Amino acid sequence: MVWDAIAIGSGMGALVTATQLAAKGAKVLVLERYLIPGGSAGYFDREGYRFDVGASMIFGFGSEGTTNLLTRALAAVDQTMETVPDPVQIHYHLPNNLDLKVHRDYEAFVQELSDRFPHEARGIRGFYGECWDIFNCLNSMELLSLEEPRYLMRVFFQNPGACLGLVKYLPQNVGEIARRHIHDPELLKFIDMECYCWSVVPADLTPAINGGMVFSDRHYGGINYPKGGVGQISQKLVAGLEKYGGEIRYGARVTEVITEGKRAVGVRLASGEELRAKRIISNATRWDTFNGLLKKTPLPPSEKRWQSRYKKSPSFLSLHLGVRAEALAPGTECHHILLEDWAKLEDAYGTIFVSIPTLLDPSLAPENRHILHVFTPAWIEDWQGLSPSAYAEKKERLAAELIGRLGAIAPNLTDFIEYKEVGSPRTHRRFLGREDGTYGPIPRRKLLGLLGMPFNRTAVPGLYCVGDSTFPGQGLNAVAFSGFACAHRVAVDLGL
Ligand SMILES: Cc1cc2nc3c(=O)[nH]c(=O)nc-3n(C[C@H](O)[C@H](O)[C@H](O)COP(=O)(O)OP(=O)(O)OC[C@H]3O[C@@H](n4cnc5c(N)ncnc54)[C@H](O)[C@@H]3O)c2cc1C
Repeated sequence: MVWDAIAIGSGMGALVTATQLAAKGAKVLVLERYLIPGGSAGYFDREGYRFDVGASMIFGFGSEGTTNLLTRALAAVDQTMETVPDPVQIHYHLPNNLDLKVHRDYEAFVQELSDRFPHEARGIRGFYGECWDIFNCLNSMELLSLEEPRYLMRVFFQNPGACLGLVKYLPQNVGEIARRHIHDPELLKFIDMECYCWSVVPADLTPAINGGMVFSDRHYGGINYPKGGVGQISQKLVAGLEKYGGEIRYGARVTEVITEGKRAVGVRLASGEELRAKRIISNATRWDTFNGLLKKTPLPPSEKRWQSRYKKSPSFLSLHLGVRAEALAPGTECHHILLEDWAKLEDAYGTIFVSIPTLLDPSLAPENRHILHVFTPAWIEDWQGLSPSAYAEKKERLAAELIGRLGAIAPNLTDFIEYKEVGSPRTHRRFLGREDGTYGPIPRRKLLGLLGMPFNRTAVPGLYCVGDSTFPGQGLNAVAFSGFACAHRVAVDLGL
């Protein structure tokens, strides 16, 4: 049998592509090496706790506009998701007692920030106002494949102002916009952190389009936590895929993309089985796709160019904790960022991210218990070549150090921990199938905004990439965008 499309992997990027294609009538097969779908948006169960593997601050569940891509992806295959609105996106605990909350309510956020930096009140409104300009352009058009000329023409004629607005911002980064409005060095550091906490690079390296999206949508569609955990999103997309005649196979690791006359025509599984399709879509990272699955094909010049511009971001040291409820003071927020010294913003083990999703959905833990997901950037090199005992000792030691730094959220946390699991970059590599456990691509140097990020087609005919190493990058709503775009391009190529 020849499938219309085979997707390698079932991360959010592939699931959105697969469901979109199935909804258009394509015969789609998804092959996932792990036991459940979702990749970095997956989950795992331990002792009555349901932990999110990675993502838990979820954009894309709004009900209005066009940027609510998770809502739209689910609706396309007749699925809905019950979500819990998060009143605060992030509670920042930063150097020099810079303690700030990003309220869902935009005015409340701007007021709180302006109270701390009264001399920059105008600049703050100017900067975030420009981010709204970008967002309003994006949110007024259907978000599909920028590789499809007829779509581009249609969108342009429907909304020329918005298109020209976006073209202007495509080559820009957040840093240059921030400096047009803001001069206070501490506030500029804060803007760096506002970027770093999702792009893992400071403002100068963060594309303006992504900044406009994140800094506005958190107040528009808002941050909403899916009831039952983040893993529910992929479970529902799989249910929708199957409803529309698609299939998914778990424990199906693809070891090679089969090419004939330079064209991708199928995949080989670890079991030796070969499967054929008219189009192959890789949800593995570009490094895993071109260095791993296409071993017999020389690295295309376009990929060499991409690798010279982008490198792998660090992975994470992750703690998944189950704690007694008394550990947290009443009124604690769900998401926190902690940093003690601005000089360490980008260092390994510098910035700490904390999510406590049970504050929004208590059903994820036993009664009177909470989940804490605590993570901090870490490089795989730091975890290689250790004996099993040295590896275990290092995980315990660094976990204890991290827990000791959480005083602003949960003093004496150690006394309340009932379950603890520590993951290193090696764990991320193993369970997520991502080279070096990377979070995703980051620019090697200052680039022209998003212009260097590739779309879905690749130099190998018949092979497409989807997910965070394609336009527009990391984050669930961003890879959902990439999924919509990929499905659109593949559907046009299949004549659907
Ligand atoms: C710790 C952490 C926290 C995060 N927090 C947030 C957050 O709060 N909000 C947010 O929006 N984003 C967050 N993200 C980012 C977000 O989760 C990712 O950007 C997004 O999920 C990546 O999706 P993807 O489609 O690129 O694929 P991935 O999630 O990488 O999934 C790829 C899938 O392909 C499978 N696969 C790979 N190779 C093969 C193969 N050879 N054969 C078969 N299957 C294969 C993998 O097993 C995996 O299931 C976080 C990520 C991490 C790691």
